[in-house]
Amino acid sequence: MKTKKTLGNWQEKIAGKYPLMIAGPCSAETEYQVLKTAHQLANDPRIQVFRAGVWKPRTRPGNFEGHGEKALPWLKKVKEETGLKVAIEIANAEHARMALENDIDILWIGARTSVNPFAVQEIANTIKNTDKIVLIKNPINPDLSLWIGAVERFFQAGIQNLGVIHRGFSNFRPGNYRNEPQWQIALRFKKEYPNIPIILDPSHICGRRDCIDEMSQTALDLKYHGFMIETHISPDEAWSDAKQQITPTRLKEIITKLCLRKQQFQDPDAIDKINFYRKQINQLDDELIKLLSERMELAQNIGKLKKTKNVAVLQENRWGEIMNRAIENGKKVKLSKKFIEKIFSAIHQESIEKQEIILHHKKLSDK
Ligand code: PEP
Ligand code: MN
Repeated sequence: MKTKKTLGNWQEKIAGKYPLMIAGPCSAETEYQVLKTAHQLANDPRIQVFRAGVWKPRTRPGNFEGHGEKALPWLKKVKEETGLKVAIEIANAEHARMALENDIDILWIGARTSVNPFAVQEIANTIKNTDKIVLIKNPINPDLSLWIGAVERFFQAGIQNLGVIHRGFSNFRPGNYRNEPQWQIALRFKKEYPNIPIILDPSHICGRRDCIDEMSQTALDLKYHGFMIETHISPDEAWSDAKQQITPTRLKEIITKLCLRKQQFQDPDAIDKINFYRKQINQLDDELIKLLSERMELAQNIGKLKKTKNVAVLQENRWGEIMNRAIENGKKVKLSKKFIEKIFSAIHQESIEKQEIILHHKKLSDK
């Protein structure tokens, strides 16, 4: 996908010197709520786009699913009365057609739609060759190529003003966040397509109000181009995603506190110090790799023994014992249980794969 031309500087044209800020309620609930929120946001030049969901993809039936077409004139009014640009989610060709008819400026593809190439393609066909701005949320599952594929479908349909929204990835076990950020996936996207603006949606990642500021600062440090943040005049009474919405006043406070950090150290003393630490880190990394390779060799020796004695690769008790020892040792040196579990699961997985190669006569070069 050639993306040099795609940026067209659309986000700079809208936001100028600020990061692009898209704010507004999860759902357009009433005309009053939509207009009141928009007016409270519009008096700040650091907020340039108003968002509101008119068709709501709800995980379970029986919840408010949006007013649909009826809410589109409310957004027209937002544009006329405040000068903000307006953004809505579209999930099929019919939504796309209505969005074009009602002169919506920015269309976003939700996380439950970007997983579906059929839906993405029919939307792309409907808005083909228009100058609409299209923002593609990452699919709910952590699949970078599916995300890229959705972007490609719009690019091929002649949409030049593209962007992506990082809204985190769903997880089976409830963790610290509603959707795990998995920054590495978004950063891979950013590295491959540096000309496509990337926007953070901390609301759907956090699922709660108290970490939106922190999450946004991380994105700013990683040179994201903008934010989409759910904002409601009375968040606790919101008809959807109440826990994660913030008031326009709180949003402005967060923007004020966001700090544009320097990307590089400038002071020579600090540069010396950081080089000193980095050298030591490089040495330790070299040692870690050497130790890991030695550990894998031992695992391979065990694999050979298992093969001669016809014993299964996976030994649950032994695995439990390794993990418990590691967690205990980690605790003594202040390494978190979560971190140890991640590292040792990866090491264990690699050992199993190496042993299986031995047991099933696979060639190492097959891997
Ligand atoms: C939303 O932005 O309101 C929304 C439904 O988001 P997502 O597609 O990220 O779940
Ligand atoms: Mn929402």
